[in-house]
Amino acid sequence: MQPSELSTFRQSLLQWYHSTARDLPWRRTRDPYRIWLSEIMLQQTRVAAVIDYYNRFLEELPTVGTLAAAELQTVLKLWEGLGYYRRSRLLHKAAGVIVEEHSGQFPQTFESLKQLPGIGDYTAAAIASIAFGEPVAVVDGNVKRVIARLKQYNKPVNTNAGYKDLKNIADHLLEQESPGDWNQAVMELGARICRPKRPLCESCPAHQNCEAYRENRTSAYPIIKKKEAVPHKTGVAILQRFGDSVLFTRRGEDEMLGGLWEFPIRLLKEEETLRDAVRRLAQAYDLPVPRSSEPIAVIAHEYTHFKLTIYLFEGNEARELSSLPSDTHRLLPLHQSGELPMHRAQHKLMEALQNTQQALKF
Ligand code: SF4
Repeated sequence: MQPSELSTFRQSLLQWYHSTARDLPWRRTRDPYRIWLSEIMLQQTRVAAVIDYYNRFLEELPTVGTLAAAELQTVLKLWEGLGYYRRSRLLHKAAGVIVEEHSGQFPQTFESLKQLPGIGDYTAAAIASIAFGEPVAVVDGNVKRVIARLKQYNKPVNTNAGYKDLKNIADHLLEQESPGDWNQAVMELGARICRPKRPLCESCPAHQNCEAYRENRTSAYPIIKKKEAVPHKTGVAILQRFGDSVLFTRRGEDEMLGGLWEFPIRLLKEEETLRDAVRRLAQAYDLPVPRSSEPIAVIAHEYTHFKLTIYLFEGNEARELSSLPSDTHRLLPLHQSGELPMHRAQHKLMEALQNTQQALKF
């Protein structure tokens, strides 16, 4: 783009943004804590799903200091249902670092923000530009799509090389005076106008500057390198009763979904049968091996990197629980289990259970 063309492009996009931007709660603030929270919640999650979580989280933990002082279990409970729980654990950890190493003051530059746990290029650029006005461009999926079309970028966008190229272009296009608004404008354009399918080019404030539109090739971009097939894993779980209560266990902090609660669960080893896995699981918790080889519920769940099927077996009558630490093991009636933060697959097991006759016993 020639300098004059670039200047017109920037003006039109900013004007469009200021006149049509959605009124979202995190757009009414420059508080880095609130912007950070929204950016972390919005990763992998739709805007509509985030708003309630965002408001609830801030009601309970309104400052970085309150977040740092909160128990991880409180944070996980506030995050429950939003998925990708690693985000919330890192948020909690980073709040601790801000309080302990920065006296509770947010680092104010792109580079210093990136030193915090869970903050990568994208989040650091978003906070630095929106809260502190630093001229650094954000590059997320929406931005990649917009730039790939504007520039007819002819290589895959989901590679390291693609990211570097697009980041350079995004930094070149960036409006230096209001980088926060600019970054949000490009992302908003990608979300609402330059959509993955059937972009609304006629309503697009950038169509005069768009190479793909000019050549009627918008559907050819962005180019995406195909990902490998997602592996499928199988797990077994045991519904173990003790009187009116059921055994729940907490996942280790360093595991995937760390800190969240579930029925005792194990993934099958290679070539292991369901029966052998159930036996191994029961032994690990010193529980009687379930009698029936028929599961009482089966659920399927998809994570980013694998698909999971879990078979839930009814435990055998157990009189006593050998002494197990209470921070990792709880006995609760099913109807009271809502007080424990749980992951989505565990919620699915509970829902499936409610649909079986077994649930009537509780
Ligand atoms: S003209 Fe169409 S393809 Fe180009 S940026 Fe706008 S919406 Fe996207």
